[in-house]
Amino acid sequence: MSGKPVFNRVALIGMGLIGSSIARAARAQGAAGSIIATARSAATRRRIAELGLADQVVETNAAAAEGADLVIVSIPVGACGTVAAEIGPHLAPGAVVSDVGSVKGAVVKDMSPHIPAGVHFVPAHPVAGTENSGPDAGFAELFVNRWCILTPPPNVDPAAVQRLAAFWRLLGANVETMSAEHHDLVLGVTSHLPHLIAYTIVGTADELSQVTRSEVLQFSAGGFRDFTRIAASDPTMWRDVFLANKDAVLEMLGRFSEDLATLTRAIRRGDGETLFNQFTRTRAIRRGIVDIGQDSPAPDFGRPHPDLPHAPVPRPYADEN
Ligand code: NAP
Repeated sequence: MSGKPVFNRVALIGMGLIGSSIARAARAQGAAGSIIATARSAATRRRIAELGLADQVVETNAAAAEGADLVIVSIPVGACGTVAAEIGPHLAPGAVVSDVGSVKGAVVKDMSPHIPAGVHFVPAHPVAGTENSGPDAGFAELFVNRWCILTPPPNVDPAAVQRLAAFWRLLGANVETMSAEHHDLVLGVTSHLPHLIAYTIVGTADELSQVTRSEVLQFSAGGFRDFTRIAASDPTMWRDVFLANKDAVLEMLGRFSEDLATLTRAIRRGDGETLFNQFTRTRAIRRGIVDIGQDSPAPDFGRPHPDLPHAPVPRPYADEN
């Protein structure tokens, strides 16, 4: 527990994986004076109360926003505009409003019109997550040593940006600032495209009639298993991501298709040199990611096999999403 809270009254709207992790981390670090939480369904609101994740659980988004110093909206990006319209009239002058959406341009466009003058809108994206959803899936350490990208509009008060940055740093994150447009391009290639590929390949494998489902699962260590974890990510969240980041994803998909065509041609022509050079280049990229501490070099073979003399140690992971 640290010293003085960065924000006095923090309202959390949406309490799934990300919202509930913010609640847990803010509690653990003393980043919030008090936490007021709400969620769309009565079942989730009940669960937040059972888990003791907030000082107060309220029924409506408007009630949560009332008098808050910081409001964080942690819901699928397609719903952010509607929620901003609901809370707009209830925001206190000087409050900071933020979100955690995996796409920034569309969220800024949808939320900005509803944020009244005198309230500071500082969009954010903690680049951390897992494939699990809901209030039980969250944990206080989710953001530790992960990036949180802020995309403040050009005219926003720098002091509000600094306060939100301080809040995220207290939760363990490293903070970076960039434009919403740049964020969407970068995440398009590092997160959105890989998810699209995972959703595709798992679907393709499932449809292969000559390979039985049990064989796909039995031999899943051959790279496929990692794809299945990514492809288990929340369908609502990812539907919204692709609809909201259409332009950047289509741009990256075009580049990817060209590169895939190059490798396809190399295989067809027996051009081992092209394949070897590409794989050497990508191996260096992987080593670079490990070197900067964004993943562990430890092997991850899933559940230990009883016949293995040295059972591998399970590795915690945090995806960027
Ligand atoms: P989640 O675990 O599925 O939780 C979603 C929350 O949003 C729940 O509280 C849900 O309420 C609420 N919700 C769903 N639809 C809604 C709607 N139409 N209107 C109002 N509330 C709604 O999702 P999450 O993983 O925390 O993701 C939340 C946001 O974080 C998304 O924008 C996502 O892009 C972003 N993000 C996710 C990750 C990740 O890895 N998962 C990482 C970084 C950022 P109920 O429980 O009552 O249904």
